[in-house]
Amino acid sequence: MLALEKSKPETGLWMVEAPVPEIGPEDVLIRINKTGICGTDIHIWNWDAWAQRTVPVPLITGHEFAGEIVELGRDVRGLEIGQRCSGEGHLIGRQSRQSRSGRFHLDPETRGIGVNEQGAFAEYLRLPAFNVVPLPEAVDDEIGAILDPLGNAVHTALSYDLVGEDVLITGAGPIGIMAAAVARHVGARHVVITDVNPARLELAAKVADVVPVNVAEEDLRDVIARLKMKEGFDVGLEMSGNQTALDQMVESLVMGGRIALLGIPPGKSPVDWSRIVFKAITLKGIYGREIFETWYKMIAMLENGLDVRRVITHRFSARDFREGFETMRSGVSGKVVLDWR
Ligand code: NAD
Ligand code: ZN
Repeated sequence: MLALEKSKPETGLWMVEAPVPEIGPEDVLIRINKTGICGTDIHIWNWDAWAQRTVPVPLITGHEFAGEIVELGRDVRGLEIGQRCSGEGHLIGRQSRQSRSGRFHLDPETRGIGVNEQGAFAEYLRLPAFNVVPLPEAVDDEIGAILDPLGNAVHTALSYDLVGEDVLITGAGPIGIMAAAVARHVGARHVVITDVNPARLELAAKVADVVPVNVAEEDLRDVIARLKMKEGFDVGLEMSGNQTALDQMVESLVMGGRIALLGIPPGKSPVDWSRIVFKAITLKGIYGREIFETWYKMIAMLENGLDVRRVITHRFSARDFREGFETMRSGVSGKVVLDWR
């Protein structure tokens, strides 16, 4: 089969001929139809310090996918050949305190496909049947291929009750934009999204009914006044990994405001701790998706009017992966989807 592999410890990825994976008794074999390119894949392409520490070579990359089950392991029940599916790319252990309590997404032994284990940028993927998420009719393969990052957005946005709340999202990357759509869908009052990249803010306004704010040009205090909010935002969703964005968020929240943090800062970043204490702010770190509560809610919302399709701005054949990666690296795209058929 064709697969997009990190074959050498240097910048780039290579399309190689690889054996179709053999499956174990509790696995399924999935024929991949579409995959999404993630920021993580760009780190792996760039072979930055994180990637060098984390990713074994050679490795088939990719973790955002949709496809169809073509083979079932001997002990697999409840799934069928021909079933369209996506799946959770975090492979969890079953022994930890958290897993044993059913909080699978907090298992410390988690290993990621396309990061630590063979990934989904290939014609076929082996996946434990436990990780499979069947797709209903309403979710086609290209939306199926971005459920992983949509799940990050949903997990973050549903961390707090947003009904009637004023929500600030910092970072209009694909995940921030999808979180804005989710916040709207579940009934937030004002949803303001910030960035310093005008192309990203333009895209945000196309995908969701949001107030885009370029913080390089406009002060959030003016936005709060313009929207006639009394004291500031009730909830902040941090999706940039940028220190300045987090500082602005803390400044523009109400007393007792709540923050969910998804964005990953590049290194250690200083936090004005006393501001958080005196404003009585709640902070929650977000990792991955809740397995499988996020998946359940995300699919239910997609079946009931949540529309994030416009966040996909580019589609390429897998053979043209170089163009796909260049587009992602340009910083002006939304999600980029590769077609493997
Ligand atoms: P992205 O890099 O495409 O988007 C981040 C956006 O933040 C960019 O558009 C950038 O211009 C913007 N930004 C930079 N400085 C800013 C500032 N001062 N104010 C506002 N915006 C600013 O990333 P993405 O793929 O949308 O992912 C969002 C974040 O979530 C990233 O940091 C990513 O690493 C992280 N992430 C975390 C998890 C997790 O499990 N915690 C999972 C996936 C992604
Ligand atoms: Zn991803």
